Amino acid sequence: MKGSNMAIIEDMKRRYGALLSKRTKYWVLLSEKKRAPVLKNSGYCPTCVQEVTFVARDAWLRDHYCCSNCGSIPRERALMLTIETYFPKWRSLTIHESSPGNRGASKRLSQEVSQYIRSQYFPDQKPGSIVGEFRCENLEALTFADESIDLHVTQDVIEHVFHPSKVFNEIARTLKPGGAHIFTVPIVNKYKPSKLRARLSDDGQISHLEPPVYHGNPISDQGSLVTIDWGFDICRHIFESCGLFTHLVYIDDLSKGIRAEYIEVLITVKPDKNDTKNAIP
Ligand SMILES: [Zn+2]
Repeated sequence: MKGSNMAIIEDMKRRYGALLSKRTKYWVLLSEKKRAPVLKNSGYCPTCVQEVTFVARDAWLRDHYCCSNCGSIPRERALMLTIETYFPKWRSLTIHESSPGNRGASKRLSQEVSQYIRSQYFPDQKPGSIVGEFRCENLEALTFADESIDLHVTQDVIEHVFHPSKVFNEIARTLKPGGAHIFTVPIVNKYKPSKLRARLSDDGQISHLEPPVYHGNPISDQGSLVTIDWGFDICRHIFESCGLFTHLVYIDDLSKGIRAEYIEVLITVKPDKNDTKNAIP
């Protein structure tokens, strides 16, 4: 399917659930394509590495400002550009991505990184086992050895976890010195404190502290429950969980199709204490 069509279908699933009939999909696609663009420009796409046209037919650029060739959306392009900028040797690294998508940065990483590990969490499968093309991994209890991963990548995952402190700890444990967790997460609360939306009790029951909100999930028709509305204090939460500092990267660059709300890319870095060549005296 053409990239831009795929992006529209993905957005439909997010908004209406996955159970749309073929006929409905066809009509939504047709009406969507007739809408006048809100934003349209040519540029270079960091995820499919080509000169393309970026088009948005809805003012909510985060989900609608798509690459005409690969269907990627701004946060995916921002993440890929951040990886290229901060880790130019990314192709030779061991990269683990939790819950990857099937386009954008996930697709490029899977095609160009020989040591790319894609994982999903299947609660009924043994952690560490291979299920189809995925390794079964729970971010709260990874089976990777200590200091074995160069880059952990997550894209809009951390707003769905129940115990983020465990996740940040596990990521810090398994990162090699000099490695990083590079991720996107919608920082919807901005300068306001992060807020818990749902809690998981010891008996597995979910209690909702706010009306439930779900995001699209490629492996579940139910979608993924948003458990936390994060604010910029996510950096403090990460530090208090695992002692690592986090950089926030904000990119606004139409020539690369990167403009949207909630587009920060976060880089939690595990310092390499032996690397002193650039140490500040
Ligand atoms: Zn593209």
